[in-house]
Amino acid sequence: MGTKGREIAGVDVKKLIKMLNKAYADEWLAYYQYWVGAKVASGRMRGIVAGELEEHAVEELKHAQMLTERILTLGGTPLLKPEDLLKETNCGYDEPSDPSTKALLKQNIKGEQCAISTYKKLLDFVKDKDPITYHLILEILEDEVEHEEDLEAILSDMASPVK
Ligand code: FE
Ligand code: FE
Ligand code: MG
Repeated sequence: MGTKGREIAGVDVKKLIKMLNKAYADEWLAYYQYWVGAKVASGRMRGIVAGELEEHAVEELKHAQMLTERILTLGGTPLLKPEDLLKETNCGYDEPSDPSTKALLKQNIKGEQCAISTYKKLLDFVKDKDPITYHLILEILEDEVEHEEDLEAILSDMASPVK
């Protein structure tokens, strides 16, 4: 980003880059958690759950892409080492050691709820200060809200009696 472009971002840019990198770490870990979860999923509604997890994996990777572009534009560097993903993450990584679809859904709902809180904080940080980042984060947040809703809907379908 040019000098003026950086200047109009009326926030502590260094702090913002740090926050964006932490969210970037979350996205890669969410991507992997969904991706590998879809592979190992077993039990009730396996096809539906695995399909949804696969879709979400693709979307989390897209979020990582969006964040890294913004980090670079702001003059930062995305995290370069896999170990830094684990070090910097807000939401962590939940190993899908129980492959039952119910456990996977619960685990990923927890992840989405953490993502929603993280992006809400980021949104508040840049509100009325950096409209470009605001717009980007809002777009991601909309996806995370949808992710939570999709997973909760499947979980509640699972709990209803089979007709
Ligand atoms: Fe995401
Ligand atoms: Fe998500
Ligand atoms: Mg979905």
